[in-house]
Amino acid sequence: MNKSFSPDDLTLRPAHFIGGDYVVDKGRLDVLAPSDGRWLARIPVADADMVDRAVAAARTALKQSGWAGLRPRERIRALHRWADLIEAEADTLARLEAVCSTRPVAHAATGDVMVTAEQIRFFAEFADKEGGDLVPAGTGSLGFISSQPYGVIGAIAPWNFPISMAGWKLGPALAAGNAVVLKPSEMTPFSALYMAELSVRAGVPAGLINVVLGDGPVTGTAITGHPGIDKVSFTGSTRAGAAIMENIARTGIKPMTLELGGKSPMVVFDDADLDMTADCLERGILSNAGQACIAGSRMIVQRAIADDLADRLAARFARHRPAATWAAKAGFCPIISEVQLKRIQSIVTAAAEQGGQIVTGGARFDHEGSYYQPTLIRDVTATSPAVTEEIFGPVATFQTFDTEQEAMELASHPTYGLCAGLFTRDLSRAMRLTDQLEAGTVWVNRYGRSRDHILPTGGWKASGLGKDLGREAYVANRRTKSVLIDL
Ligand code: NAD
Repeated sequence: MNKSFSPDDLTLRPAHFIGGDYVVDKGRLDVLAPSDGRWLARIPVADADMVDRAVAAARTALKQSGWAGLRPRERIRALHRWADLIEAEADTLARLEAVCSTRPVAHAATGDVMVTAEQIRFFAEFADKEGGDLVPAGTGSLGFISSQPYGVIGAIAPWNFPISMAGWKLGPALAAGNAVVLKPSEMTPFSALYMAELSVRAGVPAGLINVVLGDGPVTGTAITGHPGIDKVSFTGSTRAGAAIMENIARTGIKPMTLELGGKSPMVVFDDADLDMTADCLERGILSNAGQACIAGSRMIVQRAIADDLADRLAARFARHRPAATWAAKAGFCPIISEVQLKRIQSIVTAAAEQGGQIVTGGARFDHEGSYYQPTLIRDVTATSPAVTEEIFGPVATFQTFDTEQEAMELASHPTYGLCAGLFTRDLSRAMRLTDQLEAGTVWVNRYGRSRDHILPTGGWKASGLGKDLGREAYVANRRTKSVLIDL
């Protein structure tokens, strides 16, 4: 079905959504379309008072609706109705997503939106299955662990998959009985606002989902430091994650979940199925033009097959063509901003100056908008920023190894540990190395998430703290209480 649209025909609402209503505030930040650089809207930046208003609305909604104390099936039913509406409104949501983000509308409508609705249903179903525990205690005593929601969750999301990231935060928080104050990225605010509006239309009590617009330093800091926020759930860069930890330490201790950056290796042995592997490596680094936390940005390949695999990848990389995110047929995704594109270029240039060989790509596309060519760099030095830094673009380094031990040394990153890919037909080796890889997720003979939402996602080392998805994400939205009664 043709999902294309014209940005001129879209109505954008650059306002906060608090207590079930849009709240207009002075416009301060411009939102631009990465597909062609056009100006789309000017959004407000919620200050401490506006964040306070959103937190108060969340508290009032919790109290008046009794959301946390409802029979769990009632919460589940409300969340399923919300998921139904999200599916019914997939085209509108996908347009609001595509207009300002890097997500092609064709993919957003049938992929991102539908998976998000499915994940909301997945989280909802924990509400009447996951609970406390009766524990062994001495005769005459009753010991148990009960679990309760936190209250108000402060959620902060990045721009790279705006609908999915909002769903990962809102789904488990609401299912677990909380209210949320969500700040989407200042570059991609519109789909989250509409999701919040849909929740009210679906009968989720108004005020349980509040969306405040703004940047990190003002609005984000006001959320993470607010005494009425009981827990922070953040997805974004490691640098912002560290700033959030600092702010929380300064303003009062509160629990937090941090999903941060990555620099993930994809390790290929010479017994791997090369066609399948080349497909996985291509998708691993090029989906969303490399703007994914899980991007497989470091290819580590056994010497005997290195030339063959590099040739196959070069041919695959060269066939991508840009297309506006609102075009009927999805093309190669744009880079979110000119600032980010220039950063990508500077890292690639530095790698080349340090002796790296650009096998393919290495420059922006000759096309309107912010598009960067799929880029593969061989012979990079281990200290090159192309190998050490999260680039967040369609750029992969390609290193070779001879032995398993060398492969593991190259795969290990000093700070990041989000994901890793292994390609081999040798099951014993796959099991052995899966154990050794320092990462929160390991994929063998595939790269990227599936629709098995039960698998939690989250990083080791500086890639994060805690998990999204899975049972873990639901549990992370509740806190336990140990009870001992002498009978
Ligand atoms: P970012 O850290 O710049 O911003 C993320 C969000 O945090 C935005 O809403 C921003 O306004 C806000 N923010 C920034 N500074 C803040 C502060 N000091 N206090 C509070 N909020 C603040 O990241 P980005 O550029 O939007 O997204 C890309 C990054 O996100 C990459 O590093 C990527 O790896 C990471 N990411 C991680 C995951 C994961 O699951 N681990 C998923 C998606 C993206």
